[in-house]
Amino acid sequence: MIIILASSASDAHIQHVCDRLAQRGYEANVSRGVERTLIGAVGKLSDEDKSQLADQLQSLEYVERVVPISRPYKLVSREGHDQTTIPLGDHILGSEAIILMAGPCSVESESQIVEAARAVKAAGAHVLRGGAFKPRTSPYDFQGHGLDGLKMLRTASLETGLPIITEVLDVRDVEAVCAHAQMLQIGTRNMANFQLLREVGQTHIPVMLKRGWASTIDEWLKAAEYLLAGGNHYVTLCERGIRTFEPSFRNTLDLAAVPAVKKLTHLPVVVDPSQGTGRWDMVEPMSLAAIAAGADGLLIEVHPDPETAWSDGAQSLSPSRFARFVERARPVAVAVGRTLT
Ligand code: PEP
Ligand code: MN
Repeated sequence: MIIILASSASDAHIQHVCDRLAQRGYEANVSRGVERTLIGAVGKLSDEDKSQLADQLQSLEYVERVVPISRPYKLVSREGHDQTTIPLGDHILGSEAIILMAGPCSVESESQIVEAARAVKAAGAHVLRGGAFKPRTSPYDFQGHGLDGLKMLRTASLETGLPIITEVLDVRDVEAVCAHAQMLQIGTRNMANFQLLREVGQTHIPVMLKRGWASTIDEWLKAAEYLLAGGNHYVTLCERGIRTFEPSFRNTLDLAAVPAVKKLTHLPVVVDPSQGTGRWDMVEPMSLAAIAAGADGLLIEVHPDPETAWSDGAQSLSPSRFARFVERARPVAVAVGRTLT
């Protein structure tokens, strides 16, 4: 770490910091500039010790800033790791191919999810999405069919051959969801549910971690680190929009996060323009932009009849709109060196 001292720091202050570093097993390299003094601390402390020491030094009034050098997300960091690839059915997320995950927000009935699965498959989707356990903002909204919904998803998967992604909301449901799905989704509201992250980290089933709606990239990557630290290396990230002051959309889809995150991590990055905008008419333009920005996949809400959807109808594409989008997306994928088949 580097300790940047305030311009008011005296020689005694500099010595005090050097002594504190030495006590904790660090070697201190002092660099005296015209305006500021920097102290480079070299040593091998555990991450926990390092962050504790950084906080303690930061409490000194003549310490302006403590800058950690190594990233706190070792396993998630691109440094020293190959790009993660995740097999999903016949396709590989994190490869050159763009993976399309599509389906309704909620599983409403067996016929609805089977119809949706057939429609998205015909249009070119690779994975079926559908919520059985729904994290609704209001307790009075439809909460999902739970276990029955998982069974309906499995029927739709058997009918079409599409692998399934569905949300796991609670540590108590991890086993049941793993038994029915090929990929788990951890939703925005649970990004920082560290118990759930630990539990899912113990499984070896692929998992998609959505960005918390008020989370920084750093917090998101640290949350992903929990999954990898538990032993689950099949992790993908999903940008689904963050809360800003802009009221025109449900969320502000942070597409700049895609290239930013891809630079920092080897994990694939998926974009969800449906939760990201809350508006079906913005799903296509934002999806095309996401591909151009480097997304490895898209999570898109498609309902056989959005007008009657039990949740998120306003942001759901009809099957024909989804099919039209896929055709428009193909040349965009090719233009940025990807494939969409
Ligand atoms: C969803 O995918 O339907 C959903 C609830 O997602 P998020 O957690 O991003 O709100
Ligand atoms: Mn939804």
